[in-house]
Amino acid sequence: MLDLNRRTLLTAAAALSIARTDTSRADPAQHYDVIVVGGGTAGIPCALFAAQGGARVLLIEKSPALGGTLFWSTGQIAGAGTVFQQRLGITDSPDAHFDDCMRINENTADPALTRLTVDHAGETINWLAKHGFEVITGHPVTGIGHDHFTARRYQQGVKSGMSILNAFLPSLEAAIARQQISLLTETAVQGLIQENSGKVVGVTATGLSGTQDFRGTHVVLASGGCAANPRLFEDLHGVPLYAKTAYPTSQGDGLILGMSAGGAIVGGEKYASLPGLVPDAWQYPAQMHAWAPLHPMVRKPWEILVNAHGERFVREDHPSVHQIERGIYRQPGHRHWAIFDAEMLAKSEPIIPDWSRDRLANEYQTHSMFSRAMTLEELAFRAGINASSLRRNIDDYNRRQKTGLADGFGRTHRPLAIEKAPFYAIAMQGWTLVSFAGLSVNINFQVLDPQREAISNLYAIGEVIGAGATSGAAYTNGMLVTPAITFGRLLGSALGKRS
Ligand SMILES: Cc1cc2nc3c(=O)[nH]c(=O)nc-3n(C[C@H](O)[C@H](O)[C@H](O)COP(=O)(O)OP(=O)(O)OC[C@H]3O[C@@H](n4cnc5c(N)ncnc54)[C@H](O)[C@@H]3O)c2cc1C
Repeated sequence: MLDLNRRTLLTAAAALSIARTDTSRADPAQHYDVIVVGGGTAGIPCALFAAQGGARVLLIEKSPALGGTLFWSTGQIAGAGTVFQQRLGITDSPDAHFDDCMRINENTADPALTRLTVDHAGETINWLAKHGFEVITGHPVTGIGHDHFTARRYQQGVKSGMSILNAFLPSLEAAIARQQISLLTETAVQGLIQENSGKVVGVTATGLSGTQDFRGTHVVLASGGCAANPRLFEDLHGVPLYAKTAYPTSQGDGLILGMSAGGAIVGGEKYASLPGLVPDAWQYPAQMHAWAPLHPMVRKPWEILVNAHGERFVREDHPSVHQIERGIYRQPGHRHWAIFDAEMLAKSEPIIPDWSRDRLANEYQTHSMFSRAMTLEELAFRAGINASSLRRNIDDYNRRQKTGLADGFGRTHRPLAIEKAPFYAIAMQGWTLVSFAGLSVNINFQVLDPQREAISNLYAIGEVIGAGATSGAAYTNGMLVTPAITFGRLLGSALGKRS
């Protein structure tokens, strides 16, 4: 999925082909048709399509590098009717895509925005393909890390998110060369210019040339989510930001800008928890030390999962990883422990991919999230969970496993009882890569106030509208990158036509 330790903003900047601030062409005296705030997954296609439609576009990016989260994102995307499906003879439809998305997120995504995504996702992927985007051999697939689709429509570029960025950049470079797009990098938009009527007429931005106002007919917020801003994240979700895994520029600037103009924030209640992050410490936001996907389609579980009370809480081999995630979400602090014994360690694939059994067995010597003990009571003490309840739950699990009685949670994969010392516990944290809260928008991507009235000339696309909008209270395959690019294309085209 990702190797956060090796990926830094620095390497992102080094990988950039377009990185220079072009102040000569970004002229505060000029009136732009479209100002795009944020040159990432959603902002770049928006700027491109607006320019192709004839608009004078100003693209403002706060970091030295264009690309945003694409530098880190796996970039998995989904769509029906793609060239990649045709290649493999797969028939599919936007209706089936829509049904799958709403099934996976249990109808918690915005149906209108989901519909808009799936109806245009195939075109998005074909457009990327036309610009050199190529997928991993064997893709599209039905799924990878989340609940699967019923059809093969999910793909990842050979260079993950970078495959998408690489497809964007030549067209962007050409549009800049033709002076259709003016680009400012290392420049942060810090305010919206709003008339008394509420109409947005430009932005205030601070960069290498100081603080300047830029006027524009349409202002598009495409500045990403807020999952790298612990305070804002917690304010908007009511859940702490447990781990630092979002791209560092995801500070929620666009949410604050949108709110300052009267925009409503929605979707914080849709927060969904990914499973299995082993934090470096019990402090928030933590760094990821290791990750156990806990995905029964990837690896059948041998261990049991318990909460801080030492209680099991979910069917560990539930065919839907979403249901396991929901189970974790209901536990105190979204914390969960995997418990196993010496025989499970010896016979199963390590629960942490790419780790050897030896490392798994010995990590407790150097890392406080790993515990090992000769009795279950001592293990519970070391791990900081309720000992008597852990003993009771394991006795019950073992008794049912040995006698063939149905498991209390309906689990069917029960290869071994937990009874051979030493015993092991791995402490894990529920976590997220993205923010679910975002600016309320309609299907024209206009930012809405709390009365659902559109704020004139202000638009939002990408994660600034919240993962909850298109992914719902779940991790629905590709339902962030796919809508980000798709909405960028749609909005850019619409604004280009109006210029
Ligand atoms: C590790 C990881 C893996 C993921 N994998 C997937 C996946 O496989 N599939 C999927 O659908 N989703 C995935 N996601 C989520 C998805 O990648 C993001 O939701 C999406 O890329 C966000 O796009 P965006 O355009 O909204 O933001 P970004 O791509 O982050 O772009 C926002 C840009 O705005 C700039 N900016 C911010 N503030 C300002 C400001 N004030 N002024 C000017 N510029 C500003 C930023 O610097 C940035 O360049 C993943 C996320 C992560 C972190």
